[in-house]
Amino acid sequence: MKKTQGGWNLELSYAALPEFFYTKIDPNPVSSPKLVILNEDLAKSLGLDADMLSTEEGTEILAGNKAPYDGFLLAQAYAGHQFAHFTMLGDGRAALLGEQITPGGERIDIQLKGSGRTPYSRGGDGRSALGPMLREYIISEAMHSLGIPTTRSLSVVTTGEKVYRETALEGAVLARTASSHIRVGTFQYAAGKGGKEAVRALADYTIKRHFPNIKAEDNPYLSLLGEVITAQADLIAKWQLAGFIHGVMNTDNMAISGEAIDYGPCAFMNTYDPKTVFSSIDTQGRYAYQNQPRIALWNLTRFAETLLELIDKDEERAVSLAEEKLNAFEGLYNERYTNGMRKKLGLSDSEEEDRMLIDDLLDIMKMNKADYTNTFIALTFQSYNELNMFESEEFKSWKEKWSDRLRRQGKTPQEIKELMKASNPGVIPRNHLVEEALSKACDENDYSAFYELVRVLQNPYSQEDIDEKYTMPPKPSSTPYRTYCGT
Ligand code: AMP
Ligand code: MG
Repeated sequence: MKKTQGGWNLELSYAALPEFFYTKIDPNPVSSPKLVILNEDLAKSLGLDADMLSTEEGTEILAGNKAPYDGFLLAQAYAGHQFAHFTMLGDGRAALLGEQITPGGERIDIQLKGSGRTPYSRGGDGRSALGPMLREYIISEAMHSLGIPTTRSLSVVTTGEKVYRETALEGAVLARTASSHIRVGTFQYAAGKGGKEAVRALADYTIKRHFPNIKAEDNPYLSLLGEVITAQADLIAKWQLAGFIHGVMNTDNMAISGEAIDYGPCAFMNTYDPKTVFSSIDTQGRYAYQNQPRIALWNLTRFAETLLELIDKDEERAVSLAEEKLNAFEGLYNERYTNGMRKKLGLSDSEEEDRMLIDDLLDIMKMNKADYTNTFIALTFQSYNELNMFESEEFKSWKEKWSDRLRRQGKTPQEIKELMKASNPGVIPRNHLVEEALSKACDENDYSAFYELVRVLQNPYSQEDIDEKYTMPPKPSSTPYRTYCGT
């Protein structure tokens, strides 16, 4: 593929996979694309010229009106268990522009979401409304700034065309980047469509792209399973530590790379409650906060099933090797989660009973309906005046145990505070702030709150500089907050 002006340096290695993995598509132009946000830092790290992207021609590319080269766009095929039901899917409203080779030599997918119908659209219109695209921009960039592996957002362009949901809404296209869009569901698709050899082709491609160091191992496919399990244990631990709830952990929304992907009805928890669910469609609470590690393992088990034939010719042996890897997930996750919690509490070494100390605090938080993020900020800054919880006898006795534990590690108060500051965000994209920013942008064409929120969320760990407006939890409401699978 040709290099063109503006820093585009796109390849399409995915197109070398067997043809049933994708469909070549032509641009689906929209009438009057207008750039509403461009992530200049991200553009720069990709080697793209932000000035070029801001021109009319650049906006046409980000809207999917034309490719940046003489080529085609690509829609990827995949399958997925959606709320445990298996379905054939694919990019029904997304198109891959290509894989940008960055100045640092990385290969990064640039995908347009909301760019029009594809052969995988089923009954859908292939389009997206502005609100959900701005929402993905806010949340994915906040996740990145929090230090959580994630797809990122390069731009949002309004299309000048309406999309029809319950009402007529403004249409938009999001350009997002990912280290790849290979999902657990892509492997399920390969297994269903082409069997062992298709899975082998995809697995070899995945190993080359994401885990090149395992290529020479005795059983690279078993190693692939292990790598993906570790990456997911790491990701889910980070979600739990930040109080993030994905909302639709279907197997098609789980990336092999270990990046969080597909921000639909996701949200961050305010009041600590492990049963928290936000998604309006998740009536059973399948994807509640406390279930995320278990669901990740369920998804990884579906991934393992696709690899069995490659892991060993002998089915029984393949199953037992895969089970051994899957059984390690819980330990890998717990180790990461517990270590992360230790840091949130200022502990840089480990003791056997730390998990009890952590769980006791969480119990007290739950009982007192404490704000998850702000509790850790209060502990970091030793400012115990704002939350009722701190007056309770349970908390006082917990605090004594915590103080003893802190003393035993022999660190200075300053060192402890620094560790806690680096581990406890002062600001998260709280639902009420996100909703306020989106409704101003979508209903009043006023993007000021959206831009400001995006800006504030870039520095979650410089707690002292954050305006109180962004750190206050919402006023208690009688109806629980609900997010919708906005499309
Ligand atoms: P999601 O809930 O965004 O993960 O989407 C689930 C599946 O539905 C994916 O295969 C999407 O490509 C597809 N999809 C979602 N919205 C639309 C739409 N408006 N038009 C076509 N396909 C869609
Ligand atoms: Mg999805």
